[in-house]
Amino acid sequence: MTLSILYRGTLSSCNYDCPYCPFAKRKDSRATLATDARQLTQFVQFIRQTPDVRFRLFFTPWGEALIRNYYRQSLVELSHYDNVEKVAIQTNLSCSLNWLKEAGRDKIALWSTYHPGQTNRDTFLAKCSKLDEMGIAYSVGIVGFKDTIDEIEAIRRLLPKERYVWVNALKKKEDYYTPEEKERLIAVDPYIPYNMIHHESKGRDCRTGHTVVSVDGNGNIYRCHFIKEKLGNLYEDDFRKILYPRVCTNPTCGCHIGYVHMDHLGLYDVYKGRELERIASSMNAVNLPEEVAISSAPVSILRS
Ligand code: SF4
Ligand code: SF4
Repeated sequence: MTLSILYRGTLSSCNYDCPYCPFAKRKDSRATLATDARQLTQFVQFIRQTPDVRFRLFFTPWGEALIRNYYRQSLVELSHYDNVEKVAIQTNLSCSLNWLKEAGRDKIALWSTYHPGQTNRDTFLAKCSKLDEMGIAYSVGIVGFKDTIDEIEAIRRLLPKERYVWVNALKKKEDYYTPEEKERLIAVDPYIPYNMIHHESKGRDCRTGHTVVSVDGNGNIYRCHFIKEKLGNLYEDDFRKILYPRVCTNPTCGCHIGYVHMDHLGLYDVYKGRELERIASSMNAVNLPEEVAISSAPVSILRS
């Protein structure tokens, strides 16, 4: 059995100050960090003690986790377990990268977001070069504000051409982008049209709740981050008994970490096993399904 887990613990703080983010410069108390560390230790222990399942783990913290030593050490440890196929995390890449020398490089991966205004381009690119030297898998992404498009194109130009750059589209208002801006963004990220809409999801097959789940710091299991109906508890229930094929009960799904698991979109064929860390297997222009023809809808949240 293989199970993907999106883990989001108690941590909700960040060293960056992105103006649109609720976690910007937010600090956790010592007690909260201690709780978060204890919960993470319990999660790692659970993975170690469940050798009959192959895990694909993706950490999606509210805020930045890799500035915390206990996250770095846990990722290193998990990357050496035989039953862990992959361990990935969303990060702003502000931390030192030396800890990755200890990690299992064939298993660890980073979803890295570049935040212009919080770090400068050269500093971010130097981190990317170091990841390349170390042989660490990573994607680079950026939030697609209109006034950031020049910078998005610059980072695309300066990264190795085989490095996938994703863009999170703003869906705040109808026709936020002009046709020319859409074209420029698609030239950077051929899969951005999937991110420019809220996918109608109610009643559609989604792998979450079957082969993918979301788990919080207390071990509570949800099918995904967006449907808060508890399915059970990782540490108290036999999770194998609560997983089965399901359809979505939400009207729409607008974030990559959700819609990528919807069967009919066929995105597992695009990411070929790297859908968690969002590394597309090809950057060639794609023939988009009709429903992804660019449109607009009210927005979701923006973060790392
Ligand atoms: S968007 Fe990401 S990097 Fe920026 S403040 Fe929020 S959590 Fe931190
Ligand atoms: S489509 Fe999105 S909201 Fe619906 S179950 Fe899947 S991940 Fe959750």
